[in-house]
Amino acid sequence: MQATPAQVVDVEVEREVEVRVTYDDGVTATFPVLELRRACPCAGCRGKREHDRPAYEGSSVSILDAELHGNWGISLRWSDGHDTGIYAWQHLRSWWDARGD
Ligand SMILES: [Zn+2]
Repeated sequence: MQATPAQVVDVEVEREVEVRVTYDDGVTATFPVLELRRACPCAGCRGKREHDRPAYEGSSVSILDAELHGNWGISLRWSDGHDTGIYAWQHLRSWWDARGD
């Protein structure tokens, strides 16, 4: 646990493949697009997962558009038309750390 959360220094979006986020402590976290879509943090998708339903049932997805929200996070517009989730940098980092590498 760090006293100061790591700041984001670089973001790369490969629309069909993955999103890579580099933090200022040297960690680069990589998130495949399908996993990101399924983990969408918006209320609607959270509700589905809480009822043991997948937030996204397709087997492939891609990113149409990405919007950075400064120090806070990134919002993604998906090929299925969904765009309400904002992925917070620190949430992504926690997710990455929990997975281990
Ligand atoms: Zn969602």
